[in-house]
Formats: sequence, C-alpha cells, structure tokens
Amino acid sequence: LLILGIESSCDETGVALVRTTGNAVPTLLSHALHSQIEMHQAYGGVVPELASRDHIRRVLPLATQVLTESGQSLADVDVVAYTRGPGLAGALLVGAGVACALGAALGKPVLGVHHLEGHLLSPFLSADPPEFPFVALLVSGGHTQLMRVDGVGHYEILGETIDDAAGEAFDKSAKLMGLGYPGGPALSRLAEQGDATAFKLPRPLLHSGNLDFSFAGLKTAVLTQAKKLGDELEARKADLAASTEAAIVEVLVKKTLAALKQTGLRRVVVAGGVGANRHLRAQLNAACAAAKVRVHYPELHLCTDNGAMIAMAAAMRLQAGQQQANTDYAFDVKPRWPLDAITVDSE
Ligand code: ATP
Ligand code: MG
Ligand code: FE
Repeated sequence: LLILGIESSCDETGVALVRTTGNAVPTLLSHALHSQIEMHQAYGGVVPELASRDHIRRVLPLATQVLTESGQSLADVDVVAYTRGPGLAGALLVGAGVACALGAALGKPVLGVHHLEGHLLSPFLSADPPEFPFVALLVSGGHTQLMRVDGVGHYEILGETIDDAAGEAFDKSAKLMGLGYPGGPALSRLAEQGDATAFKLPRPLLHSGNLDFSFAGLKTAVLTQAKKLGDELEARKADLAASTEAAIVEVLVKKTLAALKQTGLRRVVVAGGVGANRHLRAQLNAACAAAKVRVHYPELHLCTDNGAMIAMAAAMRLQAGQQQANTDYAFDVKPRWPLDAITVDSE
C-alpha cells in the first residue's frame, strides 16, 4: 500500500509517502516539511489563525513535491492519512479537509491519525527500529508522558505531567532569558557553554514515588533566579541555561529508569521534539548502558512534527489491523484527544 500522510496540527506542514509491504516495517519514500517558526517568531508564539492560513498555502505544493521526488503519481496513492488531533482546531481542519477532498476525488479511502501516536511510532522510521514491547518517553511541546507500549494501539499511560510539558519548560525558560521562540533548541545550544551546577534549581516530583511530572514550578524558579541576577543575567545566561536543562533532563532520565524498573521492560523509545536534546540523549544513553537497556530515538530531524510520522502511524495501524481506512469523507477533528483513548483491547 502507498500511503500519503499529512500533518498540520500546529506550526509545521508536513507531507510524506510511506509504503507497506506485507508485515515488514513500512518504508519512507519521501517527505517534505515547511516550518512556520519564522512567521510566528515576531509574536513570541504560534498564532492559530496565521497557522491555518499558512497550512492552506503549503500543503498541496508539499504533496506535489513528495510525489515528484519519489516518482509516484497521485493515482498511485492507496490511502490518504491525516492528523485528526490533538492540536489547533483550525490547523487540523486544513489537513483533514485536504486529505478528505483528495480521497474523495481519487476514490481512495482516508484515515485519521493521532498526532502523539505519530510521535510515538516515529523511531520506526530510523535505520534501527525498536521491537515491542517497550517503555516510551514522549516529550514534546505539549505533552510529557511515560507509557508502556505492547504493540500498535496498545498504550498504557504510566505517568504524565500534571502541569507544563518538558518542551514547554524549555520554551518558557528560554523566553524569559530572551532566547526567542521556540526556545528549546536555543537554550540547549547556550547550555553547552554553561556550568550546569551554577544554580540550584528544583527537580519537581523526583521523589514522588510515582511516574508523574511537574515543570511549572521549575519555570517559576528560573524566573526568580533571573530576576535575582538582574543586570548580571546577561553574563550568567549560559550557566542558567545549563542549570535549567540539567534539572529537566535529570527528572526525565530518572523517571524513565523508574518506569523500566516498574514494568520490568528492557527497552526504551524516546519520541517528540525534546528527544532531539543532546544532553537528554547523552544522559539517557549512559543510564541505559549502565542498566543494560536498549534505547531508541527518532532521527534528529524527525523528532519534531513531520508528515513521515503520520504516514508511518497510518501504515502501522493498517498493518496491525487496528483501523480500516474508510470512504466516509465527513471528517471531524479532535483538538483534545488523550492517546490512551485509541487503545484497542485484544479480545
Ligand atoms: P505536541 O506534539 O505535544 O502537540 P508539539 O508538536 O508542539 O507538541 P514537538 O513538535 O514534538 O511538539 O516538539 C516541539 C518542542 O520540542 C518545543 O517545545 C521545542 O522547544 C522542543 N525542542 C526541540 N528541539 C529541542 C532541543 N534540542 N532541546 C530541547 N527542546 C527541544
Ligand atoms: Mg512545532
Ligand atoms: Fe508534535
């Protein structure tokens, strides 16, 4: 099956083509991405209305691009997949509307995909795909969850953030240090020149005895520290960035190890934008090596939003028989949609 995937949940328009052959891990033929980051930068965050309008401008040219690059034509496409949620309603409607219009015009079925399932399965796009079961650490701009994953559609949330996501903690801390939007990558770059032990910042819920996270208090502590520094902030910014990153990463790594211990599993999959963080990868690699646990990541450029992960999730759901593509083009979107709501019980 040739699957065209469309992602438009937030500020990235992504389109990709994935092919399934029997039960083998599906292969990525081509993918194309347009990031709206520059457009939103002037506002310090995503402006939903501007995001929707830009998705409209980008999605069809990107679709043409992936077809051309892979030498396929629209008529070859067997299934059109799109992100059904969660995300910005208007932005989701663009991808869903285009996918269903394409499907209807081609007489081909469509399939709505959960954005977080896309992130979760994105490591299957790498050269060294994981095997089920595994513990997943999903760390994105809007979510932070530890999951037990036994197969496609078999997701059990072990713990999650009770307030901000890890990506949000990076972004909000970066913003108050004047590092722009989204500040995660910038904060991480600056942190490389700083001393991570310079400032004592809290490790929220580190000893809570469960697998939940909380990052709102950390952001407040960073703000307090920044205010205290006053004029000195500029000179100490790299130290503050490094200390902030170390606090976030320590909590993520220790809770992931606790999840491994609790489940008895020997494999971890990291997914979502924060999975691109170098310090997180280094710390987690070291901890997992010591614990003799395998760890898998998406390729760096596929950690943040993209179309490839949406096409991949659709391909794997179809392969696993978890979902049928359908020709009911009366689409809807789900701006709020917990991942464990799509879990299928094996009866
Ligand atoms: P969600 O998937 O939960 O709806 P999202 O799609 O906005 O949220 P992603 O695209 O997965 O999130 O990731 C974006 C987030 O990843 C941002 O918060 C960004 O700052 C963060 N991020 C990206 N690269 C890095 C990095 N190298 N270090 C830290 N954070 C990073
Ligand atoms: Mg984004
Ligand atoms: Fe995302």
